[in-house]
Amino acid sequence: MSRRGEILAEMGLAPIWVLREKQEAVEEKKPAPKGWIELKQAVPACTACGLHKSRTRTVLGVGDEQADWMLIGEAPGAEEDRLGEPFVGQAGKLLDSMLAAIDLTRGENVYIANVLKCRPPGNRNPEPEEVEKCSPHLRAQIELIAPKLILAMGRFAAQTLLNTDASIASLRGRLHEHAGVPLIVTYHPAYLLRNLPDKAKAWEDLVFARRTMAAMLEGAVKA
Ligand code: URA
Repeated sequence: MSRRGEILAEMGLAPIWVLREKQEAVEEKKPAPKGWIELKQAVPACTACGLHKSRTRTVLGVGDEQADWMLIGEAPGAEEDRLGEPFVGQAGKLLDSMLAAIDLTRGENVYIANVLKCRPPGNRNPEPEEVEKCSPHLRAQIELIAPKLILAMGRFAAQTLLNTDASIASLRGRLHEHAGVPLIVTYHPAYLLRNLPDKAKAWEDLVFARRTMAAMLEGAVKA
């Protein structure tokens, strides 16, 4: 195995990368997304769970629909429900700064979404039934975007995407996988606003994510 192969294997990337590399060799670039029109009609019309009764707007997601990076949070809050865009409140401002710290900008090679597309009243935790009813929307989104890396922000997104009840502390710092896409766990920006000392740990997670993405891209160039 080449040195690069060894490094990717050490990071747990090799098997996933081989699969995607083969896809890209055939397609050369990502295929034009199919199904966005359907998804953009289905989400605002969705009445699968009770949240449709209290929502102002659905919040599908925002950003580059062919992004390498996909960031996934929990559910829209009050501002997001009003404006129809994820992470536009205080937590969103911090998220934009976190992205800037690793040279990323909202909307440029980044797509931001939530597990739930409707706001739980009073920002309560999502119910399991709501997650289950909403999951086809997120699944479709991930398939359409086909990101190279998912950043799961917060306990709720991490536990949902990894189907585990493990703590954030135990999930951070390792490469996971969701639906064949490499996934890294970090703290939710709203949590970081309340727990400033953990910003340093979030920074470690971002550096790990950036390094992981670079290793994948390097693999692509040399393949
Ligand atoms: N918190 C989330 O998880 N998502 C948002 O869009 C806003 C706040």
